[in-house]
Amino acid sequence: MYVLFCSYGNDSIALIQWAHENKLRDVVCLYSDTGWSAPEWPDRVERAEAIAHGYGFRTARTKSEGMVELVKRKRGWPGAGGQGQFCTGELKIKPALEWLAANDPDCDATCVTGVRRSESENRIDAPENIESSPNHGGRELFQPLVRHTEQERNQLVHRAGFDVLPHRSRECYPCINANIDQLRDLSECRIALIDITEQELGHTRKGKPRVMFRSARRKGAVGIRAVVQWASAPRARDQMDLFQEQPRKCDSGFCGG
Ligand code: SF4
Repeated sequence: MYVLFCSYGNDSIALIQWAHENKLRDVVCLYSDTGWSAPEWPDRVERAEAIAHGYGFRTARTKSEGMVELVKRKRGWPGAGGQGQFCTGELKIKPALEWLAANDPDCDATCVTGVRRSESENRIDAPENIESSPNHGGRELFQPLVRHTEQERNQLVHRAGFDVLPHRSRECYPCINANIDQLRDLSECRIALIDITEQELGHTRKGKPRVMFRSARRKGAVGIRAVVQWASAPRARDQMDLFQEQPRKCDSGFCGG
């Protein structure tokens, strides 16, 4: 069995098309429901799953407690307050490992992702094969698109009958590593949800506000509304460039395109 880890962004659609064109058999496309996707994302997931079914693949979804419940349980946001980036582990990796344990108890499956080296600096050395991947319960990991350029990826997306999205997957909206464009793109509805959650979380014992995005990297902006306001200003990108601030990235292979 091949288990394709799909967020249903561009790279996932390309991966499904690649698996079809390379005649992979016994394929399952597995999606992690983080409870934090953009409102339109479930429709995208359904459409992508329909393509997968058309190719004879199965589809499955993992559930999680969801981002809001998670940050309330942890009393803080991932990546803030020295807590580390726990969202990937809690919302995706743990549920995926449970799914794999239930559906592939003998660890025979090959796990497959659409990771590409040209995606970002931290994926520049992404391996094509890992014999035993810890994030996949010791199963083999295969990343057939590692050498694909964006153009080759886009051709696969088009052959699947999809338009290329101008943004990354919106399975998390926003990602805790959101860049300026992703912050500018947030809906009022999601901003309000983050705002309410930040207020509910309150302050640490040292009096620091438990906010989603660090203020130090965003010219002192505290709280989501201030962060979005900062990101909307024309100078925000210059400030990021000036301080050579790069958005953090998740290198688990579970988050991205
Ligand atoms: S996409 Fe971003 S917010 Fe979602 S689990 Fe991955 S790192 Fe966390």
